[in-house]
Amino acid sequence: MKIDRVDMLRVRMPVIHPYETSYGRVDHADHIVLKVYTPDFAVFTESAAGAIPGFSYETLGTAREILKSFLLPAVMGKTIRAPEDFAPLCRGLRGHPMTKAAVENAIWILKALEEGKSLAALLGNEKKSIPAGAGVGIQDTKEELIALVGAYLNQGYAKIKMKIKPGMDVKRVAAVRKVYPDIVLMVDANNAYRLDDIDTLKALDDFNLLVIEQPLEYDDIFYHAILQARLKTPIGLDESIQKPYSASLAIELKACRSINIKQSRVGGLSCAKTIHDICQAGGVGVWCGGMMETGIGRAVLLALSGLPNFIYPMDIGASDKYFHQDIVEPAFKLNPDGTLNVPQGPGLGVEVNERVLDHFTVAREVIRV
Ligand code: MG
Repeated sequence: MKIDRVDMLRVRMPVIHPYETSYGRVDHADHIVLKVYTPDFAVFTESAAGAIPGFSYETLGTAREILKSFLLPAVMGKTIRAPEDFAPLCRGLRGHPMTKAAVENAIWILKALEEGKSLAALLGNEKKSIPAGAGVGIQDTKEELIALVGAYLNQGYAKIKMKIKPGMDVKRVAAVRKVYPDIVLMVDANNAYRLDDIDTLKALDDFNLLVIEQPLEYDDIFYHAILQARLKTPIGLDESIQKPYSASLAIELKACRSINIKQSRVGGLSCAKTIHDICQAGGVGVWCGGMMETGIGRAVLLALSGLPNFIYPMDIGASDKYFHQDIVEPAFKLNPDGTLNVPQGPGLGVEVNERVLDHFTVAREVIRV
């Protein structure tokens, strides 16, 4: 394949429930969507880099600059046989994994189309559906939190992931557990704590949590190892796992007992698969996390998250958990058994509704070879 044109769209979609984490509150999903053309196909992907450098240093602005000045010039017009050809083409370009993921995933989707397969089949995912989870941001009151958790449980979600931060942690978890003693519940601290906060974190051991996600510094592994040795609850690392090396190190140091694989955080599907395999070999289960993707990114996550070591419900919900209207058809719907279907059609397996995409597009540039 040869990529000869890329349309770069800045997309801004209002979300149904503003999502508050220890980084702050988000009321829009901001992403760069790419329409990537070869002489035979045109496919859509997206970069998860958002409006502010909170979860990641990458932003819409850095993604645009890296794409235009470095990444697309390195890739466009080159003969690409397979996704493995991507990394050598951008070897001199350090970092910017969310931006790289958008381009590499386009190559995966194009390869799937060339082979007449779904992306899921190309990745080796044989599952038809994946248990879905609902992420719940930090709510203003306990009552609002319990009501929102209840609403997601009523819809059928298989797991609840609560965001926590200092002062909004043990009592909040206790309140949810009191009403829902048996649900699959985890918390995500988004690196809001320090090792000195160990008494608070140990107090969470009383609530039978599936995982405490990323309690400590965003790039730390060492102190998480010290903390994990003192906690009963498994630590799950998110921000700290930036590449396959981080996963190997975390497993070696016993810094966690599970890993949240976000393909965007680690540079795309190839590195996500490598991390999956490293974790499987190391006896560490993984689950699929997301970055408030549109339906385009959601299709990619579902294609990935049927690999065998994804043993926990994904963090990802149906389209209507996030958006009044998604940009793909069909939109992702929660099945009665609390799962989401893995798209089975060729390539991404969902169609992008370009009229709806246009509606949410706030800037557009066309890049040609
Ligand atoms: Mg997280």
